[in-house]
Amino acid sequence: MKILVINTGSSSIKYELFDMDHPRVLASGAAEKIGEGAGILTHRRIVTGGKFSKEVEKGPIADHQAGLKRIVALLMDPEHGVVREKSEISAVGHRVVHGGEAFHATVIIDDKVMEAIRQNSHLAPLHNPANLMGIEISKAVFPNAIQVAVFDTAFHQSIPMKAFLYAIPFEMYEKERIRRYGFHGTSHAYVAEKAAIFLDLPLKELNLITIHLGNGASMAALKNGKCVDTSMGMTPLAGLVMGSRSGDVDPALPFFLADHLGMSVKDIDRLLNEESGLKGICGTNDMREVIAKMNSGDERAKIALELYGYRVKKYIGAYFAVLGNLDVLVFTAGVGENSPEIRELCCEGLSRLGIEIDQRRNCNSGNETKEINVPGAEVKILVVPTNEALKIAQETRKVIES
Ligand code: ADP
Repeated sequence: MKILVINTGSSSIKYELFDMDHPRVLASGAAEKIGEGAGILTHRRIVTGGKFSKEVEKGPIADHQAGLKRIVALLMDPEHGVVREKSEISAVGHRVVHGGEAFHATVIIDDKVMEAIRQNSHLAPLHNPANLMGIEISKAVFPNAIQVAVFDTAFHQSIPMKAFLYAIPFEMYEKERIRRYGFHGTSHAYVAEKAAIFLDLPLKELNLITIHLGNGASMAALKNGKCVDTSMGMTPLAGLVMGSRSGDVDPALPFFLADHLGMSVKDIDRLLNEESGLKGICGTNDMREVIAKMNSGDERAKIALELYGYRVKKYIGAYFAVLGNLDVLVFTAGVGENSPEIRELCCEGLSRLGIEIDQRRNCNSGNETKEINVPGAEVKILVVPTNEALKIAQETRKVIES
């Protein structure tokens, strides 16, 4: 069975084609800068020996439909294609950012589902309309494939009301559905499952804290394998210090910025989402650069990293209290998978909680799941490479087979 996974953004389409029978990626890539004049399409396809060849096409991509058609042409290229007929692709799995309260799980897309995604667009105005466009185009391009929606928010729908409700007038929740939703759900779910498999223990018997540290960053507390709290909120701005997002600030900060600095809603939005976090403090949102700057004596980079680690540690403490008992701590995504320094920083001084990193294991390279706690520690600390596209493909397969 071949499943195409699509992540449609306002000016891009990212894709990955999976052969689910011998689990492997057949092709992947992205059409970017769609509608911007200087479009770029990157396409990787499997060649002999499991290696990948890469092609880059530069030139305008008029719109998303043109982008997807070009991707399909590359997938079906008579000489180098990885599929012969479109009909070989049984299903298309779409990443959809916001499912609101309507979706607790992956679903096959029909008109009702489309309408519900549309109704949640006000909660993710930059993402849901683009995701919907991707679905519409995919339906037209692959009329015989089953279209499936996998939501970033669905995994967090098990969070109880005491953790998702904001203490503002209840009508705001009843009428406007204002509440914590959480994001990165496919990643948290994927690494939790992988951790349980690695430890050879049933997920439903484990309490975990999963720490996704990419450009965006979030944490989740899982009790008996189910999510009971997460650090992002109604939007992805809440929680941890991120590449360019502030994470938690005093909710009154925007009033102050408006009243005293005359900033508009748009200015404040840009400040907190695009000009804050690591970037706001030390000028770069790329963690590798932040670490390099700190190593060369840059004081601001040092402060940025202290804040970053401190915030993660605070959430570990909070979620430890929420769970009562912790079995596994999981690090994932670009920073979490690749930076022993940051993992160390986040866990420093937590030995009383049973959280203790083994320095040698922490520095072991390799991109497989690994255990980095000291031998015999109460809490297992794992590094688990995330794979959101694979999780979307697995969910897609599961839903069409059931
Ligand atoms: P996205 O949220 O865009 O998917 P990623 O999960 O790819 O982000 O993570 C990107 C972040 O990971 C960047 O800040 C990058 O600097 C960081 N990163 C990647 N490799 C390393 C590394 N070896 N050490 C520290 N940070 C790294």
